[in-house]
Amino acid sequence: MGGLTEPPTLGDARRLLAEVFGYPDFRGAQGQVVEHVLGGGDALVLMPTGGGKSLCYQLPALLRPGVGVVVSPLIALMHDQVSALRQVGVSAAYLNSSLEPAEARAVERDVADGRIDLVYVAPERLLTPGFLSLLDRLPLSLFAIDEAHCVSAWGHDFRPEYIGLGVLAERYPSVPRVALTATADAATRREIVERLHLEGARRFVSSFDRPNIDYQVVEKVDARRQFLAFYGEKHVGHAGIVYCLSRRSVDATAAWLVTQGVKALPYHAGLSSETRREHQERFLRQDGVVVVATIAFGMGIDKPDVRFVAHLDLPKSLEGYYQETGRAGRDGESADAFMTYGLQDVVQVSRMLAEGGGSEAFKRVERQRLEALLAYCETPGCRRQALLGYFGERLEEPCGHCDTCREPIATFDGTVAAQKLLSTVVRTGQRFGAGQVIDVLLGRATERVLSLGHDRLSTFGIGTELDERGWRSAARQLLANGQLLPDPDGFGGLVLGPGAAAVLRGERTVELRSDRERARPTARRLRGPAASGGAGGSDGPDAAAFAGPAEEALFQALRALRLEIAKEQGVPPYVVFHDKTLREMVATAPRNLSELATVTGIGAAKLERYGERFLEVLLAER
Ligand code: ADP
Ligand code: ZN
Repeated sequence: MGGLTEPPTLGDARRLLAEVFGYPDFRGAQGQVVEHVLGGGDALVLMPTGGGKSLCYQLPALLRPGVGVVVSPLIALMHDQVSALRQVGVSAAYLNSSLEPAEARAVERDVADGRIDLVYVAPERLLTPGFLSLLDRLPLSLFAIDEAHCVSAWGHDFRPEYIGLGVLAERYPSVPRVALTATADAATRREIVERLHLEGARRFVSSFDRPNIDYQVVEKVDARRQFLAFYGEKHVGHAGIVYCLSRRSVDATAAWLVTQGVKALPYHAGLSSETRREHQERFLRQDGVVVVATIAFGMGIDKPDVRFVAHLDLPKSLEGYYQETGRAGRDGESADAFMTYGLQDVVQVSRMLAEGGGSEAFKRVERQRLEALLAYCETPGCRRQALLGYFGERLEEPCGHCDTCREPIATFDGTVAAQKLLSTVVRTGQRFGAGQVIDVLLGRATERVLSLGHDRLSTFGIGTELDERGWRSAARQLLANGQLLPDPDGFGGLVLGPGAAAVLRGERTVELRSDRERARPTARRLRGPAASGGAGGSDGPDAAAFAGPAEEALFQALRALRLEIAKEQGVPPYVVFHDKTLREMVATAPRNLSELATVTGIGAAKLERYGERFLEVLLAER
């Protein structure tokens, strides 16, 4: 689409946005980024997952003369992006190791002949002398470096080949470069600028808030049943991810969920790569699949309609939690982050920390990260404020739609209780876990208490103000505050933390949250057809959002057509249309093609390809 005589303007970009992509307007900083890059500027774009990074480079690449080169670290990401672009009628291609040499040569020829507007390449491919010399001979609209945090040697997604991308700056000084990432922290940002020579780039930093995600953390009683109750209440028939800490619990949880009528599939590094690929594929292409996974699952999954992410065990860190929960709701529709967590998790994670390798300094940093995570779990304040605060972003007002905002948590002055707990830890020699300490506080003359002589301690039986559960909660909160620490050897004992002395001396008060009455989860077995999101039930995505059964039935019919088309095209359903687009069809009931064209997500190419077929369903179902 290059070759315009006048330089392209933001107005041109807006027109393209509507005509090709079917979106009425830019989202967030998109417009500013597009304008800057259209003018030839370099950019560093930091936007949360689902923020809409792709359009920031796709629109300028289409409007500026020449081919746009997009560096992407993962084959799956390239495939998705290229099929989505082709669906809207953009000539896009990818070059990576999944192509046969002959196919790759054909793509290179298309690029050389100017038939391609956007080419996605793996970094190692881009940096081959052959490909660079091809680029030397061509007009280039821009370079986009997606997932730019992969240059960071400290990050968990480090890709050594990304470092080589620094050469683009010298070799193509007049071609704008856009680096994009959803990684929030400042150190990574600095590293990107330095290694990619983006010192002169303008920075576009968006808020990392994900306003459409609701956060909820509940005290762990029976994680699976608690999850099932959450799922049964809000998410039957929805796609989601359930994270567990170990492979064994992944397998057991997935198997159990299947017996409960959930379309669940396991995913972890212990499964064969074939099984993993198949499960991932089903997650992407079928509706309503729940993947139960260790954290090995997720990077490179940009399925937009993941409706929930559940952690049945404590995540590794708050960054990890943010990234993992961020996989929900990329389409901007409402989504849930659900976590169950208990004292046992803290003990388990601490043990893993103790047993894992690494220097003392490394372990100290890891421990601080664990404390930050616990503080988030235990906060009586707004979760979103706590989460964003960790990334240095200030949210002025409580968000209003996390669990603690919806149902505020009462707190009480727990200073005396904390003193009792801490001094019992001291008197029992800083060797025992919470169970024994609580037995002492509650005055339980168990065999173990008697044999250790703990019934003769002065704190024996002085803890009558709280029950077992109250003491467990207090112990968790003292752990979160750093007044208690798990013993450094990882035996599950509790030792005093740096903040304990001030509390014991009465120099510092402790505010404790009173946990809510917990309703024992009453997870009934889900009905089979409902669990697979079958048509006609009242359990489809956001069933509550529909005005009545007729609308719900229409939505299901549209979904069925989408799935049929997706199969014909060999693409995931969301590449055809997002749920949001289907829902808007239901709400606005278009009667002809020109009315259908006004629905969000329907550009000219999709209207032409699918318009008639969707219209047929829309007209038949009324
Ligand atoms: P990111 O790469 O930042 O995670 P994407 O570029 O994949 O996000 O965009 C996330 C979703 O939002 C996509 O499905 C995209 O179609 C949609 N989207 C992006 N920009 C807009 C917009 N201006 N209006 C409506 N939807 C948009
Ligand atoms: Zn809140």
